Amino acid sequence: MSQAIALLSVYDKTGLLDFAKGLSAAGVRLLGSGGTAKKIRDAGIAIEDVSDITKAPEMLGGRVKTLHPAVHGGILARAIPSDEQDLQSQGIAPISIVVCNLYPFSSTIAQPNCTLPDAVEEIDIGGVTLLRAAAKNHARVSVVSDPADYTEFLAAWTAGQGDVGQNLRSKLALKAFEMTAQYDEAISGYFREQYASAELSKEKLAGPVQRIALRYGANPHQKPAQAFVSEGALPFKVLCGSPGYINLLDALNSYALVKELQEALNLPAAASFKHVSPAGAAVGIALDETEKKVYGVEDLKEPLTPLACAYARARGADRMSSFGDFIGLSAPCDLATAKIISREVSDGIIAPGYTPEALEVLSKKKGGKYCVLEIDPTYTPPAVETKQVYGVHLRQRRNDSKIDANLFTNLVTENKALPTEALTDLILATLALKYTQSNSVAYSKHGAIIGLGAGQQSRIHCTRLAGGKADIWWLRHHPRVLSLPFKKGVKRAEKANAIDTFVGGEVLEGGEKAQWEGLFDGAIEPLSSAEKAEWAAKLEGVACSSDAFFPFPDNVHRARKSGVRYLAAPNGSVMDAECIAAANEHGMVFAHTTLRLFHH
Ligand code: 5GP
Repeated sequence: MSQAIALLSVYDKTGLLDFAKGLSAAGVRLLGSGGTAKKIRDAGIAIEDVSDITKAPEMLGGRVKTLHPAVHGGILARAIPSDEQDLQSQGIAPISIVVCNLYPFSSTIAQPNCTLPDAVEEIDIGGVTLLRAAAKNHARVSVVSDPADYTEFLAAWTAGQGDVGQNLRSKLALKAFEMTAQYDEAISGYFREQYASAELSKEKLAGPVQRIALRYGANPHQKPAQAFVSEGALPFKVLCGSPGYINLLDALNSYALVKELQEALNLPAAASFKHVSPAGAAVGIALDETEKKVYGVEDLKEPLTPLACAYARARGADRMSSFGDFIGLSAPCDLATAKIISREVSDGIIAPGYTPEALEVLSKKKGGKYCVLEIDPTYTPPAVETKQVYGVHLRQRRNDSKIDANLFTNLVTENKALPTEALTDLILATLALKYTQSNSVAYSKHGAIIGLGAGQQSRIHCTRLAGGKADIWWLRHHPRVLSLPFKKGVKRAEKANAIDTFVGGEVLEGGEKAQWEGLFDGAIEPLSSAEKAEWAAKLEGVACSSDAFFPFPDNVHRARKSGVRYLAAPNGSVMDAECIAAANEHGMVFAHTTLRLFHH
């Protein structure tokens, strides 16, 4: 057997001399690139220069050292007659071991004074090629890319008399592939930051771009920040304003929700997001006169389109939470919807298009800074999604579960009467949970979320929170609320807050009381407990869905107190039987879905 050849070209020379000595002692012929060969030779270990076999000197100040067919032919040749013949006719010897690690790109760019030319010089070309070539040919070649592996490799080489075995070669190849992937990610990340300028003009952003700079991340001190896709173009265009990091979290989640709502229910859908959970979500079911008042659109001059109804419901269900929302629409935004939005405090909107009149209205909002995004409705996100937490990448299949009528066929209670409207509400509530921070529970009625408990650590707290919101929503329909004598000129948000205080029954004192009373013409008698109880008893036919099973029947009892008749949750709790019994006690219809919908 001919003498095995190892090619050594390392930036990090830790452990190099011992390794070279060991390889040499095991009868391996050593070849090295400039600095590597010199260091080994200076230590009295025999090594040849790569240039001896390439017959070409290192050039361009080190930019070209090992990039040569004599090197890469020697690495890439398989143990098959035609490759062996090729090597022979070119006078190239096969290389069995590649020892290589790369220029320190990441630590260079981390230096405070690193300039762009400094960074460019640290982009390793030949080393990446050595690693990739050797890793590709790991059926024959060993690639040692980490000094921490020198000892294990040498022991295996000696024990196997020159054959470390396929397992070790495979393990080392994977490590090399990971190393080049990380290296490339560091390079593309650096240039993304350099070239994703915050000053990109509006015209440029309106076209298909791969990345946009964001004002900042989750908080103002988290700079720089950007949004990008690694392939192709971003699926949205910025038509107005400039989105922030949380805006985009809201925008992308809300559009995913409304798109699925429209597909599942065949009605235009709208969502009003805050902090990556829906404050409201609804489909375009027409509003009656009372609902128009409750949702604050009774005075809108523009006739309400189905899309406008959807947004009015989504925005009006929990007006306090929706203050400063990010809006998602499933259909192109029309003038009526834009007119509703123009009167509200809102951060931005995402929709698959805008009529010219709607865009004109929206682009005047917030002194021209309102964020208007146009999403490509044909866009399909990749099947796999990755995020990074505390330096660790987490990867999973995207939650592409389908939520439609088929999910609610396993009715486990004695009452199995599930009317179409209730099924619509269950689909809506369950779909909303798919895009709500967990744990979560949602109540819905008339095609709208009326109470949503998000991000609680215990399920009963979600059920109570959502139930409390549904109760407030219902109290807002009370005739005494609808006829509250607000003074002229009281702002919409002030009215919403004042009504919330009134129906919540909060006892005000001092200046706060005086300020509240000052919003009205005349004195306001609080809603008595008896009035509230009498009104609450009239709420019926509410649907409620939970993103995971109910661990205790207290959730079922609590839901019933807010008029819930239709329930949906996955099964799997040790208390399933008790929860079903509680639902039976109240004559409820309970669908076991088997689908857990945690979202984080
Ligand atoms: P040395 O210290 O041996 O002169 O250089 C070792 C470094 O050069 C290693 O980090 C290796 O990845 C890198 N390297 C090997 N071949 C080439 C090449 O052809 N071009 C460039 N730019 N770098 C190379």
